[in-house]
Amino acid sequence: MKIIDGKAVSLSMREELKENIAELKEKYGKTLNLAVIIVGNDPASEIYVKNKEKACLEVGISSFTVKLDENISQAELENEVKKYAADSDIDGILVQLPLPKHLDSKSVLRLIPDEKDVDGFSDGNIGKLAKFDDSAVFSCTPFGIIKLLKAYNVELCGKHAVVVGRSNIVGKPMALMLLKEDCTVTVCHSKTSNLSDITRQADILICAVGKKHLITEDMVKDGVVVVDAGMNRVDGKLYGDVDFEKVSEKASLITPVPGGVGPMTITMLLYNTYLAGKRKVEVNK
Ligand code: NAP
Repeated sequence: MKIIDGKAVSLSMREELKENIAELKEKYGKTLNLAVIIVGNDPASEIYVKNKEKACLEVGISSFTVKLDENISQAELENEVKKYAADSDIDGILVQLPLPKHLDSKSVLRLIPDEKDVDGFSDGNIGKLAKFDDSAVFSCTPFGIIKLLKAYNVELCGKHAVVVGRSNIVGKPMALMLLKEDCTVTVCHSKTSNLSDITRQADILICAVGKKHLITEDMVKDGVVVVDAGMNRVDGKLYGDVDFEKVSEKASLITPVPGGVGPMTITMLLYNTYLAGKRKVEVNK
């Protein structure tokens, strides 16, 4: 068994990004600007946003956070997003989710133009992904997983990939990205019957559920490649969806939690922001 080291892959991607971003500035005078919008005082969201700001700074992306009041109205929030959508200096817009309950996040996210949607959540970007259109902005967590698999030279073409979880931010785009890579894809969810019969068929097993140790060693075959996006905090400790200790005895490659998928997500946000700026420069050349 070999561990997929998400921290190391993430670090080397960030080093490369730093150089590419510096080159964009040197060659075209282009600086990258990311607007991060956060509503309210959710402590977890505040930590995520701080981490994103720090990561941006490290690679040379200029990011600024717009902190809005918890009680902001839908119209006020939408006006704020529209302002950055129309600003040609802004390359990427990120609205930190979840929003407070009185706000409709779908309507807010729809205001972000596809090319500035660095989270890759927009209807347009998901539609483009479904059509295997390379101009799509790919959502960060599944895109990070594809990068991890490629960094470890995992053969994807013709392999049976089983994705457990069908959320809009991980499971569904993950399945589409694997299909784009010529995997044969099966998607499982909470209503799937005989989950273990299906996971046992997986050459590549991706878990994005949010249930500690849902996947046990009897649910995988020998030699499987396992990627665990799950983040389950129990008594202050972080666990994945996979029982790492036992499953790693059968897997050929496996991501740990923490240190696997997690570090890649912010890196892919940086990468998407870089791509957004680069595409803008190329269009205006
Ligand atoms: P989510 O929106 O809650 O979706 C969970 C999915 O798991 C749903 O599709 C659900 O099925 C399915 N599911 C629930 N119980 C199941 C079961 N017993 N068997 C099979 N499938 C089951 O969660 P998410 O946002 O995709 O996140 C999933 C996990 O990934 C969480 O732990 C989250 O913290 C983590 N995550 C990590 C990162 C990262 O950067 N590392 C980023 C995003 C998310 P139904 O559709 O039928 O309800």
